[in-house]
Amino acid sequence: RHPTAPSVMNGHFAGLGENASAADFEHGVQIVDQEKNFNENLGAYLQMEGIIRAGFNYHLISVFGSQSTGKSTLLNFLFGTQFGVMSEQERRQTTKGIWMSRNKKEHASGERRMADNILVMDVEGTDGRERGEDQDFERKSALFALATSEVLIVNIWEHQVGLYQGANMGLLKTVFEVNLQLFLKNASNITRSLLFFVIRDHLGTTPVSNLKQTLIQDLQRIWTGLSKPPGLEKSKIEDYFDFAFVALPHKILQPEKFEQEVRALGTRFREGYKDPKRAGLVDEQSEPILLPEYHRRIPADGFPIYARGVWEQIDSNKDLDLPTQQELLAQFRCDEISKEVLVPFDEIIVPLEEQQAQDVAAGKASIIVKLGKTMAGARSTLMASFEEEASRYHKAVYKRKQAELETKVDGRLKTLFQGQMTAAHKNGINDFSEAVTQSVKAGQKKGSNYDFHKIVQSEKERALKRFEAEAQSSLVANTPWSDYKSQLNLYRKDLDAVSARLRKEEMRRLATRSERWVRSKLDESVGLAFNALGSGRAGSGAPADGQTKPPATGDLWDRIWTIFTDTVSYAEERFAERAQSFDASPDEVEVGLWRLRRKSWGALRGKVDDEMMEGNLLLKLRENFEDKFRYDDDGVPRIWRPTDDIEGLYTRARESTLELVPLLARFRLARTGGPPPLEAWIGEGPAEVTAADEEDLVPIGGVDEEEARTLEEEMTVLSDGKAADLSARFKKTADGVYVEAKRSAIGGMTQ
Ligand code: GDP
Ligand code: MG
Repeated sequence: RHPTAPSVMNGHFAGLGENASAADFEHGVQIVDQEKNFNENLGAYLQMEGIIRAGFNYHLISVFGSQSTGKSTLLNFLFGTQFGVMSEQERRQTTKGIWMSRNKKEHASGERRMADNILVMDVEGTDGRERGEDQDFERKSALFALATSEVLIVNIWEHQVGLYQGANMGLLKTVFEVNLQLFLKNASNITRSLLFFVIRDHLGTTPVSNLKQTLIQDLQRIWTGLSKPPGLEKSKIEDYFDFAFVALPHKILQPEKFEQEVRALGTRFREGYKDPKRAGLVDEQSEPILLPEYHRRIPADGFPIYARGVWEQIDSNKDLDLPTQQELLAQFRCDEISKEVLVPFDEIIVPLEEQQAQDVAAGKASIIVKLGKTMAGARSTLMASFEEEASRYHKAVYKRKQAELETKVDGRLKTLFQGQMTAAHKNGINDFSEAVTQSVKAGQKKGSNYDFHKIVQSEKERALKRFEAEAQSSLVANTPWSDYKSQLNLYRKDLDAVSARLRKEEMRRLATRSERWVRSKLDESVGLAFNALGSGRAGSGAPADGQTKPPATGDLWDRIWTIFTDTVSYAEERFAERAQSFDASPDEVEVGLWRLRRKSWGALRGKVDDEMMEGNLLLKLRENFEDKFRYDDDGVPRIWRPTDDIEGLYTRARESTLELVPLLARFRLARTGGPPPLEAWIGEGPAEVTAADEEDLVPIGGVDEEEARTLEEEMTVLSDGKAADLSARFKKTADGVYVEAKRSAIGGMTQ
């Protein structure tokens, strides 16, 4: 039995006759009218009767015979149909064209219950007249019935049996002829049919077996007399048909017996299997007659289209090519079924597609949760529904349409998947960058000893894991488009690029820290060195050659240079060490070190300038002078007495201090007599230096070629004018001290 169908097929099918109502089908449906037009409402009828969804679970039976032989009456009794019947009074032909009705008696229960969904075709009879028009319709309707029906009931009066020249035999000749014609065209495709002879008004004097013998002989004679197409000369009637025979009593004379036997006959319309031991004839009086081998295998939902196609071929006198008809049907139906199964699919997928498109337009990278599961569900439902409906049709067409549908659907799902991957990529990169930044911030709060490399590595790992998890939950297993290797590679590359950028930022932070450290170190050490100026006796180291006696503090610049280079070297070491710890490239380290040296020089130069501010310097000179003048060699303060050589001491101390001014005015190393090797020490910038690296660097005279200043100028701490001015001011201050000393000497005496 056909499984409960999904709702997608309701309310619409096969594109035929959607406007008919039940009232139009009181007597069944006239599928072909007397003008030989096909009725577009056949589909609506099958829909109304609930057969359209039956798949292969239906049966088609036709009745043949001369006019007014009680065919319609028989069908109505057998199947509870309401085909038009000639009234006893009027005696006019009633059945025109081909009618179809559903069996209304099938619901009777019991062991010999009739098969489901029997459709009966009542075919307009002929009365043996030789009119061309009738012959044409007889042929066409016979062909149509043969192409579609499993069982052909041949209705015949008992008294006609043996009348070889009668109208019935003409009809049977036609049936055999069109069958051969059909077989020629469709040799591989044709199915057997059952010719079921119903002998009416059986008196009972002649047993059915005798009537049967007579009929078989007649059939053989007709067959022998047929001119057979080439290749089929030797074919036998049994190659194409099975036969069964039944006799019914006179309906009017023996109405009860008639009805009773018709009921018994009805039970034979059951599904059954042929006894393999017996070939050909179905002759046992209670045997089921609906055998699988008779079934035409046209799915019920395709029958209206198929029947129309077959009739159109027949009616336009074209060769009836059933395989072609079946292929056309398959194409048509598979396309329709594709559309139908796409409806519930679209209900799920279209909103996701719209959401994604909107997010993309808005520049948002939003993730659709459980995308993979949703897509897989929609996809498998779609493919299963398609298979269920479409696989009954022509196999090759079905396979092709299935592949088409799959390609179409997968194209859309792939787009969704890739959109999802793009969003995951975007989010992942942002999250990664944010997470590293936050961790660094947290690390900075705890002190600068965080492991940047470790932070980057673990965040990268997490970002990759998240991405893979996202991909896994977004894909549909076993689809070729669910491969995300290339996206993953791209993602990894981007993570690396972001890592490099973050590392650069970290380098900058490290550089800033190093510079700050150098600056504060220099502040302190250089400050101390300058403070030593205040002592007249400090730092009087002997020069290397020992010839000229340098002034006290004559090696000030040597010491500052040493402090400077030591401090910076130490900072450089630590910088390089740390930079390497987070995987900075040698080039990056080199640039960083070069910047650090330049910035450090700037810091030193700034510190020196600070120290050299006029007020500071004057104070230091005064201290220096006073130290020499007011203290003796043992550092004991002098108590001036009038006898002291105040003037001599004053002059010496003053001159000695004044010697400091030209010394301070230029950064010069005592040991070489020249400026420090600044250019060599800072070095030429590495080749990798970028504009950004140079951005905040102050040009250095004598090092930067573009700078007009010379090294000499860079090393000039006090201009000549300033130095002279300073000397003059200092002298005044010294003079004041001298006067004060003089006074105190005199004062001390008078006390
Ligand atoms: P159809 O043209 O073959 O469909 O014949 P109908 O079913 O319309 O019946 C034609 C006439 O035959 C009607 O008047 C029926 O009452 C009558 N009839 C139906 N069944 C029988 C039967 O079994 N025996 C006889 N003698 N007449 C019948
Ligand atoms: Mg009739």
